[in-house]
Amino acid sequence: MTATASYYSEEHHLFREACRRFVAEEIAPHHARWEKEGKVDREAWRKAGEAGMLLTNIPVEYGGGGADFLTSAIFIEEMMGHVFTGPGFRLHSDIVAPYILNNASEDLKRHWLPKMASGEAIGALAMTEPGAGSDAAGIRTHARKDGDGWILNGAKCFIGNASRADWILVWATIDPSLGRAGHRAFFVEQGTPGLGSFKIEKKMGLKAYESTSFTLEDCRVPAANLLGGEESYQRRAGFKSAMGTFNAGRPAIAANAVGMGRAVLDEALVFARASGLLGDARVRDRLEHIARKLRLARLVYLRAGWLVDQRRPNIMEASMSKALGAAVAQEAATFGMELLGAVGGRGDHLIEKLYRDVKAMDIVEGTGEIQHIVMARHLVQLPSRD
Ligand SMILES: Cc1cc2nc3c(=O)[nH]c(=O)nc-3n(C[C@H](O)[C@H](O)[C@H](O)COP(=O)(O)OP(=O)(O)OC[C@H]3O[C@@H](n4cnc5c(N)ncnc54)[C@H](O)[C@@H]3O)c2cc1C
Repeated sequence: MTATASYYSEEHHLFREACRRFVAEEIAPHHARWEKEGKVDREAWRKAGEAGMLLTNIPVEYGGGGADFLTSAIFIEEMMGHVFTGPGFRLHSDIVAPYILNNASEDLKRHWLPKMASGEAIGALAMTEPGAGSDAAGIRTHARKDGDGWILNGAKCFIGNASRADWILVWATIDPSLGRAGHRAFFVEQGTPGLGSFKIEKKMGLKAYESTSFTLEDCRVPAANLLGGEESYQRRAGFKSAMGTFNAGRPAIAANAVGMGRAVLDEALVFARASGLLGDARVRDRLEHIARKLRLARLVYLRAGWLVDQRRPNIMEASMSKALGAAVAQEAATFGMELLGAVGGRGDHLIEKLYRDVKAMDIVEGTGEIQHIVMARHLVQLPSRD
């Protein structure tokens, strides 16, 4: 399936070619091993950084590429459309880095963002806990002020890249009875005493993307590691800006989903042609249906991402892009499996792998159901719950 060419400038075309070369040379040869080992080589992060593939969306003064959302989307789709290792790199670039850019002190930004852009440092963001996923306001990890620092206690789960990250942005509460007003986010550097019990989660898909649970036991961090400073939380800005960042991340997840859907469609076409199924009008109709929906999902996420570039509100568009992209990609993968028949049941076809991988696109950054709730509230002009 060809991309919507009219949106691409000459720079975008060149960047897409560079992405394809990078994927072919640095990702594809290693990906099967990474899937077995459950993580991407650290060296690949550095190579991605060297090739200018990380933090494309972050201003040049902080070591980023200073490019637009479409540039990020190009990398995501090329990555997902070929070997599906994207989420690790992109979580780092599309969700963690913008959060730092919008909320950290100038010192922390200048220290960490250039290192993240070069692939020298990896960042993770830990909100989810056993018992607090969709209901992020219900986190129980506790933060207590202690002299000139903070003591953290609690547990997190399903956190991308956490065990290999140089630091984890940990969300905690100073008092659960305060709800969101009690939330604080802390930089916790790897090796801080009390941060440990890392356990890689076993997942049905996205196996080269490490998801980790860990605990914090009397884990002490300096006051300077409180993201944004206490004053921003007094104004309840902390939680709101976390949610604002998600609105930048959701179109990126939608791009991941569309990339996976494209890959399914490409593989389905190859399979249908080789097995003589293209002669069947019903099969052709269904392929066309998937291609059309993927094109639609791409247009919706491009609009949501363009609004991010313009720094304009995009709550509705971001949720719509995420809900639609994940749903269409899952529909594509289900169709792909139906087309394969018994071949899919063998468990060694790329479409079967995508069928397992794609479910995560519905879950992360707010499930599809949560996106529907956000959109419905927005539609009838109910205040958002943050
Ligand atoms: C691959 C992967 C990577 C992840 N990476 C990270 C990460 O890096 N950092 C991080 O913090 N988290 C991460 N997560 C966690 C993810 O954000 C949560 O899984 C997600 O928010 C859903 O929470 P939950 O799994 O606890 O499900 P729950 O919140 O328990 O939801 C279960 C089901 O109930 C539905 N539901 C919940 N509330 C409502 C409601 N009010 N109305 C209707 N339906 C509802 C949901 O849609 C879902 O279908 C990751 C998860 C996965 C699978």
